[in-house]
Amino acid sequence: MTPSPVWHPFTQHGLGEDIPLIARGQGAVLHGADGRQWLDAISSWWVTTHGHAHPRIMAAIRDQTENLDQIIFAGWTHEPAEALARGLIEITPEPLTRVFFSDSGSTAVEVALKMALGYWHNRKVDRHKIVVMEHSYHGDTIGAMSVGARGVFNKPYAPLLFDVTSIPFPTSGAEQATLDALDVACREGAAAFIVEPLVLGAGGMLMYPPSVLAQMAAICTRHDVLFIADEVMTGWGRTGTLLACEQAGVIPDILCLSKGLTGGSVPLAVTLASEPIFMAHWSQDRADCFFHSSSYTANPLACAAAVANLAIWADEPVQQRIDDLAAFQAAELQAMADHPLVASTRQCGTIAAFDIAAGGNGYLSSWAVHLAAWGRANGVLIRPLGNTVYVMPPYCMTAEQLSDVYAVVRAGMDAGTR
Ligand SMILES: *Cc1c(COP(=O)(O)O)cnc(C)c1O
Repeated sequence: MTPSPVWHPFTQHGLGEDIPLIARGQGAVLHGADGRQWLDAISSWWVTTHGHAHPRIMAAIRDQTENLDQIIFAGWTHEPAEALARGLIEITPEPLTRVFFSDSGSTAVEVALKMALGYWHNRKVDRHKIVVMEHSYHGDTIGAMSVGARGVFNKPYAPLLFDVTSIPFPTSGAEQATLDALDVACREGAAAFIVEPLVLGAGGMLMYPPSVLAQMAAICTRHDVLFIADEVMTGWGRTGTLLACEQAGVIPDILCLSKGLTGGSVPLAVTLASEPIFMAHWSQDRADCFFHSSSYTANPLACAAAVANLAIWADEPVQQRIDDLAAFQAAELQAMADHPLVASTRQCGTIAAFDIAAGGNGYLSSWAVHLAAWGRANGVLIRPLGNTVYVMPPYCMTAEQLSDVYAVVRAGMDAGTR
């Protein structure tokens, strides 16, 4: 066979890793073209919520193909987008009144940053500084990288990234330092603070409590700094509630959602904004309008998938599945905690993580490569972040399947030390 011309994301082709050809996905199981099977322990990179190929989402996409594939969204509209926007306004906090569409988590973040800057610009206030949290990840476009952690991921692009003010991650016992740093940054007149609520995903599944989230939001409110919640990963039930912000009673000014928005089936993102942010762009002057679009903004097929996702949330026992999965995770994690290599076991809702104490630290830790390869060879899709192992399954994963995942991880750790 001729070598594949495909250039894969975050993949070092020089290492010659096995790249499985997936033919079919059903529930928590991925089926290879060669007959192999894998349990999807990371929800295909945090997107698949209910399971692969949920019949109602697949049917909604199929039905929509009978009617409308694509339409310019500047000044035109369609029912799937209208229904989705109405549904999102209904299930999110009341002050969020406007829905702007885009097509990935990164673009949802770019839109959020541009909304925040536009808000201050149109009100003729000179505020443009963005405050961020250490170890954050907000996407891979230039703006999203700028507000994310600097490191091996973005070193070549550093000259293009804009300046931000970074506050420390609120490690247990040192939360006050985070709050003080945020207070100082806000006092200096920042435009916005962007943060991943409760769990910093790509930064290593770092978790902090709702009380800290609530206090950070209060500081922003006190200084009139816009609070941007990047719930691209934490949204749609991952942390145990529909939104992570709920657990802290926090109402963001701007909310980014993607990944689970379509149940993880097709690409779509939304950035929700409060009325003052929309109204700052509302006038009789074209120069004040929100200058952002991409060709496929609010693609009807994607919106139809997301409307089906809302229906699933409304009338299937999604919360019960989430609660059950969280309980299975707690039991597995507790058993794992006794392993001599395991440190810092942690859980937030359906997300479980721990660190491997031995071996190199950081994203390029050899544990990540070893365990991912071990998983590929042993029927589990897993992709550790450096020496941080995490399990983030779709909500349909059974207790038995989850036990199999942990058994493979455990065997891989034991093989790695021999
Ligand atoms: C994945 C992720 C993004 C980027 O989303 P893409 O769809 O990959 O562009 C942004 N923010 C957070 C918190 C994420 O986890």
